[in-house]
Formats: sequence, structure tokens, C-alpha cells
Amino acid sequence: MPLLVVEGITKRFGGVVANDGVSLTVEKGELLGLIGPNGAGKSTFFATISGFLRPDGGRVLFDGEDVTGLPAEVLCRKGMTRTFQIVRPFHDLTVLENVMVGALLRHPRAAEARRKAEEVLEFTGLAPQAAFRAGNLTIADKKRLEIARGLATEPRLLMLDETMAGLTPAETQEAIDLIRRIRERGVTIILVEHVMEVVMSLSDRVVVLDMGRKIAEGKPEDVVRDPAVIQAYLGE
Ligand code: ADP
Ligand code: MG
Repeated sequence: MPLLVVEGITKRFGGVVANDGVSLTVEKGELLGLIGPNGAGKSTFFATISGFLRPDGGRVLFDGEDVTGLPAEVLCRKGMTRTFQIVRPFHDLTVLENVMVGALLRHPRAAEARRKAEEVLEFTGLAPQAAFRAGNLTIADKKRLEIARGLATEPRLLMLDETMAGLTPAETQEAIDLIRRIRERGVTIILVEHVMEVVMSLSDRVVVLDMGRKIAEGKPEDVVRDPAVIQAYLGE
């Protein structure tokens, strides 16, 4: 049974159809790349399936259970966690405290949440910055913190939204390595990245959105050669 089945998800903002009947499945342990030009509907898709926005149509099944329209916190508890393209740490809290907020979902006792958060900081390479105010981090570390907060909720499905945007090539390589290590822990991942090369190097399979619709799906090497995909990117 796939971990995630999305059937015909539709989301409108006034006259804009941001997701127009998008269907896809993600197998357990898979890393699915979700790409498409700016405005294609990638972030809306994450928001809609992870409970931050209510869909106007369609269904979401997580591990066989219909979870359509459930609130984000309930989905997170079930193991569906997303990160945000526009990172939103609590600026006045420390890095450790930010990650503890995620860990408290599964470890209501502060001492245990702290232990979990410290483990995640170690894993993500943020341990040296544990006591920094989150607002003072570099962009790359804020992005890493966003991933760390997600990991602290102990997801089965982690949806990463442009965690590499604005990074230098060296920082991008570190982020790629981190995603590989998350995956080795058995976490299923949907990766949204604007930069195709990054998605290509990490993904088992790729889904391409354009103007709210799925226009292609397949192995990375096939998708990059698909004329409809090339056209969508050229039209940007
Ligand atoms: P992507 O993440 O692929 O760049 P988005 O999902 O952010 O695309 O946006 C898809 C479309 O939906 C765009 O036309 C965008 O302007 C519109 N949109 C996204 N969020 C909102 C919103 N909260 N209100 C109105 N329109 C929105
Ligand atoms: Mg986006």
C-alpha cells in the first residue's frame, strides 16, 4: 500500500485554480521530486494536503486512511509534516527551543523533548548554534532549522518546500547530503525544489506541475527530456 495517495486535489483562490485535479501516489521509503515553474501550484499542493488549507475537491489518503481536510496538527501527529518555503522560526526563541516546539508533539515532558531536540540538532549539524536566537541565523541555517523542526515531529512523510532556495553551491551540497541522510533513516520524502538539477540528483521519481495541473511524471532522466516539461520551463 502506498504511504500517500492523492486523488484529484483541487484548490482555488478566487478565480485562480492553483491545483486543478492533481493526483499522485508516494510509496513508503520513496523520494518523490515535485517540480514546476513559479506559480505552478507546488506550495499550494503541500498546504492543501498537509491541512494548512482546505481542498475544494479531491481526497488524501495517508497510510490507507482518508485524512482529507484534517487540520495540520492532527496530520502532523499522524506523521505528515511539511516545511515552509518562507521559513518561519520563532525569532526570539533559541535554535534549541525552536526544535523543542516540534519535539513536544511526541514528547510532552520538557526533558524528553529537549533530549529529542538535541539529537535532531546533532543530526542536522546545528548543535553548535543551539543557543543562538533563531532570528540571528544565516539563511542556510534558518533553512536547516526548518528541516530540524520538521524532523523533531518524527514524521513518516516529510514534505520539503524549497529548502535550498537562496543557498550557495556549497550550502546546497550540504542540504543534499542532509536529505540523503534523512532518507536513510526511512523517512518518505516529497521534495519541492525550483532548481531541476537538485531534484534530479535526489529523486526516485518526479512529478511536474504547471499551471495547477500535473503535466508529466516519471523517472528524472525521462522527465527532463519531456517536451511538455521543457516548454513549461521555457515559458517562465
Ligand atoms: P509554486 O509554489 O509552484 O510557485 P504556489 O502554490 O505558491 O506556486 O501558487 C500557485 C498559484 O496560486 C499562483 O498563481 C499564486 O499566485 C496563487 N496563490 C497561492 N497562494 C495564494 C493565496 N493564499 N491567495 C491567493 N492566491 C494564491
Ligand atoms: Mg512555492
